[in-house]
Amino acid sequence: MVIGLTGGIASGKSTAARRFGEWGAHVIDADKLGHRAYLKDSAAYHAVVAAFGDDVVGEDGEIDRRVLGGKVFGNPEKLQQLTDIVWPAIRDMAATEIAGVRAAEPGRVIVLEAAVLIEAGWQDLVDEIWVTVVDREVAIERATARDGSDRTAVEARINAQLTNEARISAADRVIDNSGSAAALEEQLADLWQQIGANA
Ligand code: ATP
Repeated sequence: MVIGLTGGIASGKSTAARRFGEWGAHVIDADKLGHRAYLKDSAAYHAVVAAFGDDVVGEDGEIDRRVLGGKVFGNPEKLQQLTDIVWPAIRDMAATEIAGVRAAEPGRVIVLEAAVLIEAGWQDLVDEIWVTVVDREVAIERATARDGSDRTAVEARINAQLTNEARISAADRVIDNSGSAAALEEQLADLWQQIGANA
């Protein structure tokens, strides 16, 4: 079974994925694949440099994500240009990894942790979509505490994302993480049991 785990900023995706990993799931982190997607000399690397210019290449020859981020920030067209390059590359890597794990360990649960699962249209890679949600204020609190960023910056990021409602309507299961860490644990354990895995 392949679970697509998604959710907004600081909603607890990584915390949940880590726990499922401890319980035996093979976890694929789409964010990490994103870092690998345009490493030097990959197809996506060349596409990004062609689209955004040589100045996105840092001294080490790799794409400087901060420079690239600066170019797309607040510019929806540029952002889409970037995601049109990077999302298919991430998708291919995730699909390959899923196929590999399925072949090698047919019974193993796979968790694809992907903040943009729905936006990128990767639903067909997974059997079920699980969504972590937190109230807006809780997300702001946890994100500011974790990242040291200010409230306005976090709110801007939240406003640019899908709403909880949109994610919930796409979800097979919803994990409500506005409560305590213990309350989260309980839900994760329940879900893990429901899918028949051994916690
Ligand atoms: P992002 O996509 O923004 O990286 P995420 O959805 O992966 O975030 P986590 O990193 O798992 O979210 O959680 C965000 C922060 O909130 C972390 O610092 C985490 O330790 C904390 N956290 C998660 N769940 C709870 C909880 N139930 N109670 C208190 N803190 C929590």
